[in-house]
Amino acid sequence: MNFATSCRVLLIEDEPSDASLVRQYLKASRHFQFELIWTESLADGILAFSQQNIDVVLLDLSLPDSQGLDTVLHIRKAACTLPIIVLTGHDDTEFALQALDCGAQDYLVKSDIDTAGLVRAIRYAMSRASLERRLYESEQRMSLALQGAELGLWDWHIPSGKMISNGLWAKMLGYAPDEIDTHIDSWAVLVHPDDWPTIQAAQEPHLRGETEFYSADYRLKHKLGHWIWIHSAGRVLERDSHGQAIRAVGIHQNISQRKASELRDHLLVSALETVEHGVVITDIDAHIEWVNQAFETLTGFNRNEVIGLRPNELVKSGEQNPNFYQELWATILAGTTWRGEIVNRRKNGELYIEELVITPVKDQQGCIRHFVGVKQDISERKQIQTELWELATTDGLTGFLNRRHFMTRLEDEFARIQRNSQYRVAILMLDLDHFKQVNDNHGHQAGDAVLQQFADIIREELRKIDVVGRLGGEEFAIFLPDADTESAQVFAERLRQKLADTPLTINEQTIGTTVSIGIALMDADSITADSVLIQADQALYAAKESGRDRVRIWS
Ligand code: GH3
Ligand code: MG
Ligand code: MG
Repeated sequence: MNFATSCRVLLIEDEPSDASLVRQYLKASRHFQFELIWTESLADGILAFSQQNIDVVLLDLSLPDSQGLDTVLHIRKAACTLPIIVLTGHDDTEFALQALDCGAQDYLVKSDIDTAGLVRAIRYAMSRASLERRLYESEQRMSLALQGAELGLWDWHIPSGKMISNGLWAKMLGYAPDEIDTHIDSWAVLVHPDDWPTIQAAQEPHLRGETEFYSADYRLKHKLGHWIWIHSAGRVLERDSHGQAIRAVGIHQNISQRKASELRDHLLVSALETVEHGVVITDIDAHIEWVNQAFETLTGFNRNEVIGLRPNELVKSGEQNPNFYQELWATILAGTTWRGEIVNRRKNGELYIEELVITPVKDQQGCIRHFVGVKQDISERKQIQTELWELATTDGLTGFLNRRHFMTRLEDEFARIQRNSQYRVAILMLDLDHFKQVNDNHGHQAGDAVLQQFADIIREELRKIDVVGRLGGEEFAIFLPDADTESAQVFAERLRQKLADTPLTINEQTIGTTVSIGIALMDADSITADSVLIQADQALYAAKESGRDRVRIWS
């Protein structure tokens, strides 16, 4: 309604003379324009405002189809928030107040009505109705918001202990709204005995005015006997002149689920703290969010210095190439677990090998939110493996391969020739001359020293790709990948000459040793690796036969 234009007044009045008086009064208004709609019964009145826009109702209480205060109740119910002014025939204050209780905004005694009074009453009723409507809407919004957020509401009058709460407050605890007494004591008996210190620690300073808000998490007993975790928050709204709190208002929230998951989280974290594998949790960009105790021990970094950083800023050793990390990231971003071994660097600079498993963790929508890395230091295990491997494959005295492993490597070369007929390998068989005499004349230890000296000479002359085996006591074999017999012969001559030129002095005694060498070529025509080794052996035999300290090629 806008008073600048016109106000639509519905008059429900069965007495035509009264109706025409009202019409005259309204017409006489100099400042405002009224449009009067007149009906003579309650039913017609209700019909009227269901069909057209009405700004205010002027209501006579004794109508053909309704009498007294019932009439107000009926109209209030049907007209919702529309302002109602009751027109009564008698000046009875008690009755007038009852009419207001039934939902009227004002009442006028018919005999006292004049234009100014009527217009004022209409304007006043309309502004009151508008205020009430706004209040009603605001309460409605508030109630919907509380319902939506599943919040209980409490309103505590502190001196009397009276407490008003909404339905949700009681429902949280399993009670119907009218089942719980409206006194603070009926709340107090439900509080878990262990939680009083928490409540008091929050409540007392707030009541004294030392904190801006009150907030506490504690347990209340559910009607069925179990405990409900409640988050209670509020504040004092009113204090007396001495600062004593009079009224406090706040909300209750059921946080049992949150508490349960907090407890579960706590349990899981405790479990992760006890495992001996390092555990690291990162976000999707690999920024560290959490690490366990074992991670600290493994890397040497304290958890406070790693949070927010990325593992590669901490432990990257540079021992892996970029492809390694690309493959790792591609795997985990595809949502699959990555497993592998990785060389990392501890805070003190030491390198170590870890076995790492990285698992992506997805949210309920299936989006990756975190990565969990589980690390185990396997440096020691790797070291033992390497040592065992060396023990199993090499000869202790010279460090060369043992017969079995030399043969395995030779078989690999043979297989390579099967794949590539251009490829060939020269094989040398070497045997020290009259070595029995060295032992006999100088002792077994001196013999060993000669063997080691010979091993050193071989090592000096070797290319990286050449492979040496100690096949027996003083018997060695060497294969030279991608070498022909001519270059093998040059190599063998060099070895032979060098040994002959380098007598060994032990205990002031000079021991001169020579070696005989046989050479054979393993190529596409060879039948087996073994057969070529036999050929080299035959060439060696020929070298021995023709006087020792010489090189022979198998033909
Ligand atoms: P030939 O020129 O014909 O090869 O004569 P040789 O004496 O070297 O040959 P033989 O096979 O008769 O002797 C090899 C000797 O090598 C026997 C053994 O005393 C010695 N021998 C074998 N293994 C070792 C070892 O590990 N240490 C030492 N010191 N001697 C060994
Ligand atoms: Mg009447
Ligand atoms: Mg010998």
